[in-house]
Amino acid sequence: MKISIDIDTHSGFCYGVVRAIEQAEKYLEKSSELHSLGSIVHNNTEISRLKEKGLKTIDYKQMSAMKDSVVFIRAHGEPPSSYRLAEENNLKIIDCTCPVVLKLQERVKNNYRDLKTINGQLVIFGKVGHAEVNGLVGQVDGDATVIETIDDIERLDFSRPIYIFSQTTKDPEIYKQVCNAIRSRIVDQNGPVDKFKIFNTTCGQVSSRHPRLKEFSKDHSIIIFVSGRESSNGKILFDVCLRENPRSYKIETTEEIELSWFKEGDSVGICGATSTPKWLLEDVAHYLRQLFP
Ligand code: SF4
Repeated sequence: MKISIDIDTHSGFCYGVVRAIEQAEKYLEKSSELHSLGSIVHNNTEISRLKEKGLKTIDYKQMSAMKDSVVFIRAHGEPPSSYRLAEENNLKIIDCTCPVVLKLQERVKNNYRDLKTINGQLVIFGKVGHAEVNGLVGQVDGDATVIETIDDIERLDFSRPIYIFSQTTKDPEIYKQVCNAIRSRIVDQNGPVDKFKIFNTTCGQVSSRHPRLKEFSKDHSIIIFVSGRESSNGKILFDVCLRENPRSYKIETTEEIELSWFKEGDSVGICGATSTPKWLLEDVAHYLRQLFP
């Protein structure tokens, strides 16, 4: 069977993940181990590669039991409680919070002060329990409402001021729809629409991929999307592909690829999430070239 294969040139790690991995690898050149609080990247293949070099993933419980050691903070960032814990346990922090997330944490913290003076509600559009969202909620001591879908807006009080921020990796289009729905409800209830503030905090590194992925998905007859199952933006970006091309398949490793997906003359597009390494996309392409020489 003859097929053609292309790798999306815009896929691969985002700036924040590249920066975090580079710093972890630099540290591991001089040291035999490094403890990362949570997975450094939502991709098991890349995690295995870093594990070989000495990277260990720990959770809060394990961090609480550590003393006089080094803890690595990944690109998603952490709430202030993690920094307090590090101080109490004399742990040195290697802080690789992405600068985009760091700026968002600051904006949440600063605007919350203003919001409190007018009895407002702080809203985060994001995934409940996601590390970045936990880091944001931690900036305001938990006094925020996290909404995941349009239906969740029913939990808000439309008679009070609302400031809304988005998790960096959310779909900007859906964020817009959520914000429009909130505005409509405020207007319907004669609420303070002038005190409804929308902060555009989706990350350009992700949002710029949406239109590109749409084109890429349309330009190929079949899409192989490579991403870890845990990756939030992987789910969102895969949905972008699937909406444009129903023959889109999401895989984590080449073992999941099925021969029955392919047809004679297919143009195969390989792409992935911001947590998918370029080398993995190349591995998938190499595997397919061997299957269909
Ligand atoms: S997606 Fe954006 S905000 Fe998130 S780590 Fe990457 S560059 Fe930073």
